[in-house]
Amino acid sequence: MSIRIDGELCTACESCINACPYGGIEIIEGAAVITGECNLCGACVDVCPIEAIILERAEYVDNVDKAKYQGVWVIAEHYKKEFPRVVYQLVGKGRELADTLNTELSVIILGDKLEEKLDEFGEYGVDEVVYVRSPILKNYYSDLYVNVLSELISQNKPEIILIGATPTGRDFAPRVAKRLKAGLTADCTGLYIEDNTRNLMQTRPTFGGNLMATIRTPTSRPQMATVRPGIFKAKKSLKKAPKIRILEKKFTERDSVTKILKIIEKEQQTINLEDAEIIVAGGRGVGSKEGFELIRELASVLGAELGGSRVTIELNWLSQDRQVGQTGKTVSPKLYIACGISGAIQHLVGMENSQIIIAINKDPHAPIFSVAHYGIVGDLHQVIPALIDEIKKVKAED
Ligand SMILES: Cc1cc2nc3c(=O)[nH]c(=O)nc-3n(C[C@H](O)[C@H](O)[C@H](O)COP(=O)(O)OP(=O)(O)OC[C@H]3O[C@@H](n4cnc5c(N)ncnc54)[C@H](O)[C@@H]3O)c2cc1C
Repeated sequence: MSIRIDGELCTACESCINACPYGGIEIIEGAAVITGECNLCGACVDVCPIEAIILERAEYVDNVDKAKYQGVWVIAEHYKKEFPRVVYQLVGKGRELADTLNTELSVIILGDKLEEKLDEFGEYGVDEVVYVRSPILKNYYSDLYVNVLSELISQNKPEIILIGATPTGRDFAPRVAKRLKAGLTADCTGLYIEDNTRNLMQTRPTFGGNLMATIRTPTSRPQMATVRPGIFKAKKSLKKAPKIRILEKKFTERDSVTKILKIIEKEQQTINLEDAEIIVAGGRGVGSKEGFELIRELASVLGAELGGSRVTIELNWLSQDRQVGQTGKTVSPKLYIACGISGAIQHLVGMENSQIIIAINKDPHAPIFSVAHYGIVGDLHQVIPALIDEIKKVKAED
């Protein structure tokens, strides 16, 4: 899709400027000009009195033979021979979708020396593991992933492909989708099959999380979706012995346009927030950066990871990678302790799938209590030290 303004026709009447919800048009030297803010919504086209704005849309032709597309695929990324939890979460949802469609669930792995990990997927009800093996694929190479996956998908024609909305997944998924002219919905929070159509209904937040949009891609196959970690649950199901299909690739570094010179581990490599079993999170109610020491202490006695609301990141009390919520991480630990967090919807969407939620807040009407399994109404500066003392006592007794 593209948009352009016929500068010869434009009279700089400014109708388009008033109609644009995104501030995506400016008058420069007597004519309207589209800026980088434009999102191609077309509102300006409708109001231009002299039809000087031209929006060109690609023609969608429903000529894909959908019957040829079968099966649900999960692309399993890995790091240091481990699959992140999101992979098992996608497998859980993938099994459900495959059962609804009465089709097979496959896990696709591009890697090296992962042989002993392949059977594990049988515990999650996977029918088939496709393992593309090459020593170079021990690490993630953007272009090799795109090439290999595009080829595999073109040959095998899966109906649905699920990918983690991780930095890696977010890198290769759109490239593969573009190459295959497939539909891709990013950051889905809900997936189900539309009645009688086999269309994948893909729900995701939009307009800053104030609306949920459900998207389908009825004219193209495969249907691709990325899903943030923590949205779905990993479910062990009836154990199967998955079919293992190994495809050898003789790649060398010269096959990639990129070369990995060095892998730099993040400083203070704690485990990813998405993978944490216990999270202690603080909000504005903590009061100050120094006040966060109390939250750190509680996290430390529980062996928990530290998280926070967006406010705490904006106030520079915590680093960006600790933010929980719509514009941060989506987490689903066994235990989430929210301290001085009000429970704005943008925070809740990132943690409401936690198994047990404990909220500490001095306001009994704080929305966080609507999702909490246990609530403590009180000043966190009094509640948390008492909690720490009790935990230490219990630990000493053990
Ligand atoms: C587009 C968009 C995206 C956003 N993304 C995110 C996101 O990803 N994550 C996120 O968290 N937010 C996000 N926000 C911000 C969100 O709307 C809220 O502003 C934010 O979550 C509020 O943070 P908070 O709960 O720490 O602060 P507040 O809402 O100010 O709440 C502080 C709470 O602390 C309690 N309190 C105060 N003192 C004490 C005390 N001594 N003891 C106990 N309790 C106390 C208060 O009663 C209050 O409930 C987003 C907003 C927008 C518009």
